[in-house]
Amino acid sequence: MNAPFPRQGNNNRLAGLASTLLALTFFALTFLALTFASAQGLCLHFWRAAPPSSWHIEHLREMTRIVLKFGGTSMGDLDRIDRAARLTLAERRPGTSLAVVVSAMAGETNRLVALARGAAGEGLIGAAFDDEYDVIAAAGEQVSAGLLALALRRHGARARSWLGWQAPVRTDSAHSKARITDIDGSALIQAIEGGEIAVIAGFQGVDPEGRVSTLGRGGSDTSAVAIAAAIGAARCDIYTDVDGVYTTDPRIVPKARRIARISYEEMLEMASLGAKVLQTRSVEMAMNWGVPVRVLSSFVEPGHDQPGTLVCSEDQIVEKHVVSAVAYSRDEARVTILGLKDEPGRAARVFGLLAEANINVDMIVQSQSRQPGTANLLFTVAENDADKAVAALQPRQAELEFDAIDVRRDVAKVSVIGVGMRSHAGVAYAMFKALAAKGINIEAISTSEIKTSVLVDSQYTELAVRALHNAYGLENG
Ligand code: ASP
Ligand code: MG
Repeated sequence: MNAPFPRQGNNNRLAGLASTLLALTFFALTFLALTFASAQGLCLHFWRAAPPSSWHIEHLREMTRIVLKFGGTSMGDLDRIDRAARLTLAERRPGTSLAVVVSAMAGETNRLVALARGAAGEGLIGAAFDDEYDVIAAAGEQVSAGLLALALRRHGARARSWLGWQAPVRTDSAHSKARITDIDGSALIQAIEGGEIAVIAGFQGVDPEGRVSTLGRGGSDTSAVAIAAAIGAARCDIYTDVDGVYTTDPRIVPKARRIARISYEEMLEMASLGAKVLQTRSVEMAMNWGVPVRVLSSFVEPGHDQPGTLVCSEDQIVEKHVVSAVAYSRDEARVTILGLKDEPGRAARVFGLLAEANINVDMIVQSQSRQPGTANLLFTVAENDADKAVAALQPRQAELEFDAIDVRRDVAKVSVIGVGMRSHAGVAYAMFKALAAKGINIEAISTSEIKTSVLVDSQYTELAVRALHNAYGLENG
């Protein structure tokens, strides 16, 4: 988004009246085109992987736009909403315009989801449920947007609420887990540059049929980053109940440290490996669009200077660690297909069936079984997909030729993450050694360029996290 202003027509070798006139006409036309583009605002298409050349917006405006986002606990009751309003107003200064994205009040989405399930009963699932689920679940954010707008007005500010369809935040039709396809930021830009604070209901959008959609649990983080990208915001501040991203869960390791800066790549791994601070998709979007994201606490009084954590690109981080964080997730199940016939095509068949059932597979290990000519195929899925996985495979037992399927839910995935792994050897070794010293058995391993994950018995989760945090010296910075 920082493409330099193009210096077209800047040719001082132009000689003669005709060429000067030509150049002037060119400037005038360029100026008109840019003004028009700016007035139209910025319509971002989120299926594009890379940022568009939005320099016309960047260079014609004088205002810095900032997006703030308040999560459920920060909107938990009227007092907290009032503090959110005051934190917002503390960001108001000349030359800055503000958009605020809000979550539903803490617990509200759960309450609404339970109501929806209660009304639907057992039988209604999938398409017969999800569209109305969205209508119901999105109501929580509608209420908080209105409440925060009123709280801001009470403090004398001009503010109004915006629902997903009003912005509009356009999504696909995958109800209950919709993806943002594009946001036309022009109306929002016009409103905030006119001095009004826009309070936008997070988590919700509108699908091509004009129906309400929601972005999946935790989706208001994604709303905030997407809106920041769409209005060309200088940054997106996520106010939450912690004061930043930590080297690991401080409830397990009290000496865990707040990380001052973390790269998009590491944050993406952390979010998808179990750290709950930001929704994975929001980090993906911040990375693709280069939106700097700050994680801050909403439990401080306005004016209190807090460092928080900046999620940014790797080249903005001076101090690099081999391992930056330890993450864990108990939301795992281990599925083992025992005695699967060992011949080409079997694994393709198994994972084909799982893909058809829309099940994400994470770790995979195949090993020889005792009987010759057969193998054991172990893989992990999200815990709530375990039954679906068995349902997809068990009926095909005769055709796939296996002895039995074994499912274990008492497993956890513990991961170490760090961009330094790309250039340092021995990270996995240090991990396995630390776990061995505590007598923790490793059931499966998976790696990427910047993370190593192991599957362990879930009763050892805390022990493993502590051992690894200590092994990499994370408490010392
Ligand atoms: N209120 C929604 C949820 O609880 C979205 C969010 O808070 O991000 O999942
Ligand atoms: Mg959240």
